[in-house]
Amino acid sequence: MPSFVINEKCDGCKGGDKTACMYICPNDIMVLDEERMKAYNCEPEFCWECFNCVKICPTQAIEVRGYADFCPLGASVVPMRGTEDIMWTVKFRGGLIKRFKFPIRTTAEGSAKPDGGYGAGTGALDDQLLYTEPASLKADKLWTLGD
Ligand code: SF4
Ligand code: SF4
Repeated sequence: MPSFVINEKCDGCKGGDKTACMYICPNDIMVLDEERMKAYNCEPEFCWECFNCVKICPTQAIEVRGYADFCPLGASVVPMRGTEDIMWTVKFRGGLIKRFKFPIRTTAEGSAKPDGGYGAGTGALDDQLLYTEPASLKADKLWTLGD
């Protein structure tokens, strides 16, 4: 089942340029109805059920069917993101509620280095080396086609 927005909980991300769910969706299928200030999934058949929008929504307004490998059919799954961890609340059909908390980072927020501290390569899209090569392979130079 693709994502769906619980209207009562959605505040349209308070009218920002782009809502959090629009920003994060890899398929660009979350859109905002600007009159109602409610988001919705405009192409449900293209939804991967990747949970990105569910996790980023600041008001827990989006739900996706929980996968059978971590909750049974009919249970609802709602994540709550913190800066250090994420709490998953699973409500089973019988009313039983279980919560699972997992750490989501090992570095302080804002301190992650995209290049891992190795220094970037050329950054050119047609470069045959990966972003941090050759430094991350501890080499001065890597041979590429054409050398
Ligand atoms: S992220 Fe949540 S609150 Fe923001 S527009 Fe999307 S559904 Fe609404
Ligand atoms: S579950 Fe993933 S693919 Fe589906 S609407 Fe949300 S972010 Fe997009």
